[in-house]
Order: sequence, then structure tokens, then C-alpha cells
Amino acid sequence: MSKELELTGRIKVFRCPNCSEFVNLTMEECSFCRSPIDHDAAKVAAGKQETLNLAVNNARYVKILAQTMPAFYGVALIPFMGWIGFWGFLLLAFLVPIMSVRRWVSFGKMQADEPISKRSRHNVKVAWAIWALMLVLFSPILLYHSVLIWEILQSSLM
Ligand SMILES: [Zn+2]
Repeated sequence: MSKELELTGRIKVFRCPNCSEFVNLTMEECSFCRSPIDHDAAKVAAGKQETLNLAVNNARYVKILAQTMPAFYGVALIPFMGWIGFWGFLLLAFLVPIMSVRRWVSFGKMQADEPISKRSRHNVKVAWAIWALMLVLFSPILLYHSVLIWEILQSSLM
């Protein structure tokens, strides 16, 4: 067992080059097709697999964040609760691009042609579409709250 494996305590998997099933890195042979495992090649493959998984999860988070925007938008329209929706929406409106840029910085160089990576890119595109649409819908609320904040500031200064 390598030091890395002992430290993280996580089971690393990689795709068997022979049968494409996911195999535990610590195995001596593939548990599906019984072909022997080249541990150095397997370690490289496991690392790639882990990066791919991170990229896929990251895309999923970005999409979930964008999909939460309409909920906060709805709350922003409710009297007396509007502030919660307003600040929640603003937070998400910043988080979606920040997470997307972070994703691009971390995984942009990865040229994985796997279908799963295409699906993640699609997820990010969907997130950006929701984000743009929600910002357009949100702009009157933003204006309204800005005027309110401005009035509160002015009255407290006088
Ligand atoms: Zn196999």
C-alpha cells in the first residue's frame, strides 16, 4: 500500500484497460476480467479518474447553485421576508461565476473526451443560462432594494 493511500484512507479506483470496469487500485488483478494490474499505470489512471470525478462534482455544484437562484428570487418577492431572498440571491449570483472560474482554472486543461466530461460542460452551460436569466429577472428587485438601502442610509445620516 502506498503512503498516499494510507494518508487519505480513501479507496482509489481506476478503469481496467482491458474491460473498462472500475477496479480498486490495491487489487493484484482485475476483479471483473482477471487481467493482471500494472500498479504504476493504474496509479496514474486512478489520479486522472479522481480529477475527473472532482470536475464532474464541481460542475454539479455550479448547476445546483444556479438552480437555487429561482427559490431565493421567489423569497425575495415575499413581503417582510424579502431581505433573506435578496441577500441569498446576491450570494448565489456571485458564487456561480466564482465556482465556474475556479473550475476552469483547476480543470480547464483537462482534455478528457469521456461522455461524462461533456455532460459536466453541459451542466455548467445550463447553470450559466439560468444565472443570466435570473439576473435579468432580478434587476428590478436589485434596483428596488438599492433605493431602500439608500433611503435608510440617508435617514440615518440626517
Ligand atoms: Zn478488467
